[in-house]
Amino acid sequence: MKIHRIETGKVRIRRNQVTKADGITPKMLKVLFDKNWSDWLPIYAWAIEHPEGVIVVDTGETHKTGNKGYFPRWHPYYLLAAEFDVRPEDEIGPQLRKIGIDPDRDVRKVVLTHLHTDHAGGLRHFPNSEIIIEKNEFEAASGFTGVLAGYLPHRWPGWLKPNLITLPDAPYHGFPQSLPLTSDGKVMIVGTPGHVAHHISVIVEMEGVYYFLAGDTSYTEENLLKLQPDGVGNSQSTGTLKTILSFAEANPTVYLPSHDPRAPARMENKAVVPVYREAIPS
Ligand SMILES: [Zn+2]
Repeated sequence: MKIHRIETGKVRIRRNQVTKADGITPKMLKVLFDKNWSDWLPIYAWAIEHPEGVIVVDTGETHKTGNKGYFPRWHPYYLLAAEFDVRPEDEIGPQLRKIGIDPDRDVRKVVLTHLHTDHAGGLRHFPNSEIIIEKNEFEAASGFTGVLAGYLPHRWPGWLKPNLITLPDAPYHGFPQSLPLTSDGKVMIVGTPGHVAHHISVIVEMEGVYYFLAGDTSYTEENLLKLQPDGVGNSQSTGTLKTILSFAEANPTVYLPSHDPRAPARMENKAVVPVYREAIPS
């Protein structure tokens, strides 16, 4: 098995989105009217080479975000709170081809942690793959209510017929719900609600290390360690971060959120979340 990290360009958002600000102003207003940008952050997607076929986790962003009118002009979030820098060659399709993976032929499954544009923007590269999306998340992102919530359902490929899943009550370590993606159970989907109500993450167990492809459960490992939720998620965020931390206490875990500039270094050095405790033999 092997995990490839694919950077599909960069995004910058308001600092109050990266880390939740204190105070009583509604959270979206704090994000929209924050004067401070974050740094330009990477947009990562992942490709897992598994004997049963390649599994892609998130598809990154498209360069079309640079086209006039790609985002609904009237939408305050795109007007005020997000900027993208993606070139055509940054998209996931060309990048996979460069490393010898043909997105048309070799990618068996594509899992989306959630449907925000910087995770679903590369969907069009996978017309022949099984696209796995959490059912409630798909419903929340669809139609005009989806657009209001900041999703871009009208930009999804016309052929999209996802396999809509609901996670069964099958505990995996501390996660109450999980679903295996491979028959050996080495690639698992777990429920990580918070950033959106039905966010999912993928855990890959490889040579005794657990690679936690975290989507947007938090924007950085630092915020995970501080149990610091982001500025757009719901009240489940902190509980999810606690569950991830206790998982990382019991299992050597490399935490890889979609926008953490330090993810590459941790991945290369197999740097586990610094709460891991070796199991004490009883
Ligand atoms: Zn998101």
